[in-house]
Amino acid sequence: MIEKLRNDVVHAKDHVQEAINLAHQLQPALNAVVTFVDPTQQLEHLEDVKTGLMAGVPIALKDNVNTKGIRTTASSKILDNYIPVYNAHIVDLLTKQGAICIAKASMDELAMGGSNLTAATGPVSNPWDLSRIAGGSSGGSAALVASGVVPFAVGSDTGDSVRKPAGFCGIVGVKPTYGRISRYGIIPYSSSLDHVGYFTRNVKDACIGLEVLAGRDDRDMTSSLKEVPPYSELLSESLKGKKIGIIKNVTDSIQNETTMNLFNELIDKMKNEGAEIKEINFDNNLLRAILPTYYMIANCEATANHSNLDGIRFGVQAEGDSTEDVMINSRTEGFGLQVRKRFITGSYGLFVENQEKLFRKAQRVRRLIVEAMQEALQDVDCLIAPASSTIAPKIKGEKIDELMDEYLVAENHMVMGNFSGYPSMTLPMGFDQGCPLGVNITCKAFDEVTMFNIGAGIEKCTGLKDLVAEVK
Ligand code: GLN
Repeated sequence: MIEKLRNDVVHAKDHVQEAINLAHQLQPALNAVVTFVDPTQQLEHLEDVKTGLMAGVPIALKDNVNTKGIRTTASSKILDNYIPVYNAHIVDLLTKQGAICIAKASMDELAMGGSNLTAATGPVSNPWDLSRIAGGSSGGSAALVASGVVPFAVGSDTGDSVRKPAGFCGIVGVKPTYGRISRYGIIPYSSSLDHVGYFTRNVKDACIGLEVLAGRDDRDMTSSLKEVPPYSELLSESLKGKKIGIIKNVTDSIQNETTMNLFNELIDKMKNEGAEIKEINFDNNLLRAILPTYYMIANCEATANHSNLDGIRFGVQAEGDSTEDVMINSRTEGFGLQVRKRFITGSYGLFVENQEKLFRKAQRVRRLIVEAMQEALQDVDCLIAPASSTIAPKIKGEKIDELMDEYLVAENHMVMGNFSGYPSMTLPMGFDQGCPLGVNITCKAFDEVTMFNIGAGIEKCTGLKDLVAEVK
């Protein structure tokens, strides 16, 4: 898709206009866009970048990506009036390669959530079934790619926020290795877990995406100096001799038959293509600890990161008789329930008397989980598991039992990719009730080449690529 569009750069204006028209047409149904971006200026500069890797390709950015002069809210009421004075590093990279941003996409408020139900502008619908969630937190970006508006959209992934919505929307979602893409200018959530990620409709485009976004940026000290390989040139769909480790704890905890049938069929096909399959058993208690560990680390870091959203340094200012009142009122009025809950947990974990037994303990448990992953990945090239146990839940869904393994393990295993920083990607695996289900793979640090190759092998096995949902 990206290649086709960039090779037809003379018609870029038309492609961009088509994308904008479709985005407007679908907005009442999907509610995926927070701010439409006028592409005129970007198109004027296209002549200078017409040989770029994304020349003339319409794209969308999650609304936590700072865009100079363009409103950036992170889907939070408190940032309703925020217009950044600088670009995120990746915005400059995308511009240099000729990409044309047409929309800032909806997300869970401040990226906290997995449903996109907490955006200040309301829920984002799943393009395959409007009564279902798109997933979160990068739900707007996912919906815009899945509905055919844009072939590429940026998201961010702190727990699984690219890979979960990708699975629910039938597209490819990539979270590369921690440090592979600069986070300079991304409104943070949890700095030790935050990754820039992105969505495409096939693995080849996913390779191009990383070629554009990856690389060292001196303004993000966590960004890596490692060279960026030519991913698309190195792409091969051969699974011959690839060692694949099934995360048994995940498959054991999934009760949905369709999900497991699709997964088992895929594994059989991968075997036929020459892959060697191994079953991996983690200590189940360790996997049950993923979610509480994640919440403790993420909420503590988020609380610290967002202490500047007080209506004085940043954000919409509420009335108050003193500086403290202004801060308290701005934060009370500016944040939704989910965010406030997380700040309370985070503050509690950071109290001097709690830090050791909560925040530091969570960091130690994280280490144990990463060590277990390291050990598992010694014998295999990648870990594989369904990206979720079921298709996307209903927007007005029933409450799920959050203490069951089906939730704790099967719905949250992808967080391991954030704990470790290992590259991880979700692809479509099949359909249930007309809605897509995803499969997730996770590889060794900086081994995106293997991840893309196995991804391409999976794409060949499923035959599912370039899916576009017909929104109705
Ligand atoms: N679902 C996770 C959460 O609720 C992941 C969020 C993310 O990756 N940004 O925080």
